[in-house]
Amino acid sequence: MRVLLVEDDPGVAASVRHGLEANGYTVDSVSSGTAALAAAASEPRPEIVLLDLGLPDIDGQDVCRTLRAESESVQIIVISARGEEIDKVVGLELGADDYLAKPFGIRELVARIRAVGRRSSVHRIAPSMNPESARQQIGALLIDRRAQRTFVDGNEIALTAKEFALLSFLAEDPGAVCRRIDILRNVWETDWYGPTKTVDAHVASLRKKLGDPSWIESVRGVGFRLGDAGSGPNDPEFAKDVAE
Ligand code: CA
Repeated sequence: MRVLLVEDDPGVAASVRHGLEANGYTVDSVSSGTAALAAAASEPRPEIVLLDLGLPDIDGQDVCRTLRAESESVQIIVISARGEEIDKVVGLELGADDYLAKPFGIRELVARIRAVGRRSSVHRIAPSMNPESARQQIGALLIDRRAQRTFVDGNEIALTAKEFALLSFLAEDPGAVCRRIDILRNVWETDWYGPTKTVDAHVASLRKKLGDPSWIESVRGVGFRLGDAGSGPNDPEFAKDVAE
């Protein structure tokens, strides 16, 4: 994933760049608003822009507004030392997707980038969601996001809204580890770092309903991963049958 970092403080820019590259991101770094707008408009275009608001030439808010006007799909995360709530609100009103106050850790930043990416993929699917793209088959598991229905081996299982949201979230990238905090953010829409027993309770009931605990694997100290348990008969006609 290509990230455009807009930051005029060379020390901050170097450490963010280093941290993101260590996490597998491709980073282009610029130190002014003018350079940011030029870089965002040239190929290959960045998917994510990390935007410092205090820039030497153009006000970061104007940069943000222009970036959003020129692209609806680019993800913008405002990073700023201006930690006041008003900036957060203004940033989001200008079209930013998230806001991170300095100083921040690289883990926190990576978590935000992932969360923003997930939200955007959900939003991108929604308007054009058709019966074909809304259905996802993972082994014996079929998730129909449009109808909010779940099937294992063709048998529908009844999930609560939260269980369905949790399963959908884990299924966005089968096999990838989902951190508890990302699950809380995306499924419960909270940054609450308190007891995560809520997540565990829902995972437990989801496992029970799916009929095989190995569908959802615990990754100690990190979170959960959707496995490919019960990879039973994967009849290509299966999805079609279920739709009817
Ligand atoms: Ca600055």
